[in-house]
Amino acid sequence: MRSDADLHCQVLVVGAGPSGGDLARRLAREGVDVLLVDRLADLGRSAFSSAALPIETMDAFGLPAEVVGSRWREWQLIGPGSATRRWASRQPLGVVLDFGALRRWLAGQCRQWGGRVELGLQACSSHQDGERITTLLRRADGSLLRVSSAWAVDASGQARSLLGDPPPALRRGDELVRAAGLEWLLRVPLECWQAWAERLSFCLGSDWVPQGYGWIFPMEPGVLKLGVCRLVDPGRRQPPLGGLMNDLGRRLLGLGSDGTGIEVLDRHGGLVRSTIRRREAHQRGRLLGLGDAVSTANLLGGEGIRHALTSSAVLAPLLVRALDEDLRSPAAQERTLKAYAPLLRRALGWRWSLSGRLARHTWLGLHGPSMDGRLDLVLRQLEGRRAEDLSALLFGYRFERYGLRAMPYLLGWR
Ligand SMILES: Cc1cc2nc3c(=O)[nH]c(=O)nc-3n(C[C@H](O)[C@H](O)[C@H](O)COP(=O)(O)OP(=O)(O)OC[C@H]3O[C@@H](n4cnc5c(N)ncnc54)[C@H](O)[C@@H]3O)c2cc1C
Repeated sequence: MRSDADLHCQVLVVGAGPSGGDLARRLAREGVDVLLVDRLADLGRSAFSSAALPIETMDAFGLPAEVVGSRWREWQLIGPGSATRRWASRQPLGVVLDFGALRRWLAGQCRQWGGRVELGLQACSSHQDGERITTLLRRADGSLLRVSSAWAVDASGQARSLLGDPPPALRRGDELVRAAGLEWLLRVPLECWQAWAERLSFCLGSDWVPQGYGWIFPMEPGVLKLGVCRLVDPGRRQPPLGGLMNDLGRRLLGLGSDGTGIEVLDRHGGLVRSTIRRREAHQRGRLLGLGDAVSTANLLGGEGIRHALTSSAVLAPLLVRALDEDLRSPAAQERTLKAYAPLLRRALGWRWSLSGRLARHTWLGLHGPSMDGRLDLVLRQLEGRRAEDLSALLFGYRFERYGLRAMPYLLGWR
């Protein structure tokens, strides 16, 4: 153990987002001495994620009702052009989470199981020293803290603060694809909220958001989330996201006109960055990557929460095993952790990667009338389907249900 460290623990988790918070609570539950840190001083703030999920996620990851903002049971797709299509179910199909509440709950669970949580700490660097890893963290007042641990986990999201971006030479044509999103939390009159309640609404087509999409999701009564997201295309001049957002608000809610009674409660945004094939290293010595830090976010719907939770569900038992008394030999620990990347790849499944490719083709190509027409044709084919089928397509990535012959067309290869 290094004597110059200020704190010691078995596992240091950097980042209290869904992946880091979930890993920390799982490890703490197993009796591991875990320290969870985040640069945020308050996990309820900077809640940048729209957090729409299919309903099964709640049970699958044991999430409580207190993190739910609202439930939804209908898909509404507005556009391309003037078309509006709806698919409704009698049963709830999903939830929109209160992202800040989710992060707070996960950290609270970690504490309740005996783990430590320290906020307002920004991880700057880490270096391995024999069988320990030392991480340097900075407090808001500039002072430094050194943490020595057997393992450190980079769960800092797309920033990859410790692991870093995959080096260009190792990407082998699998570049980081970037999507940028903006979201406003709005307080609206109840009659306005009711028009958007119980449904996920997306705006599609280049006249709404070129190379991306817009959305309105309901939260608790009287509160809506309005957002835009698009893939970053270095080869094209893209209009500012803020302008697209204003446009969306004006066209859907009349924002900007007098007397709407709408108040903007919060403005936030962020990046999603993932490779499509996910071939990047998940581990460097005693440093492991988790969630968005190893590209688990899927670009089709900018969706990453349940995939981040999948990564922690895969890593937690491996770390517990590696720390187990019987496995003290470093070689055995290394062997145990080697299984992490392939197991995670298997858990995400081949459809995950396929949907990433589909996302890249669809969103990057969606910048004019010809692709709008193509998208309209695909949506027309879905008109007779059930709302559950749309969920299977958009959350389950079950493209093969639409026939293998349709795949190249869907993928934009024909
Ligand atoms: C606008 C937008 C909308 C989205 N909508 C959805 C959606 O509807 N559904 C969905 O499933 N997903 C959505 N996502 C994606 C989803 O939010 C992420 O995939 C998910 O949060 C990833 O979880 P994570 O724990 O890996 O990383 P993050 O949630 O990014 O958490 C990383 C944490 O690390 C902390 N951190 C970063 N750097 C450091 C550092 N150096 N030191 C200490 N702490 C650090 C951050 O403060 C943060 O708390 C959206 C994303 C954006 C940007």
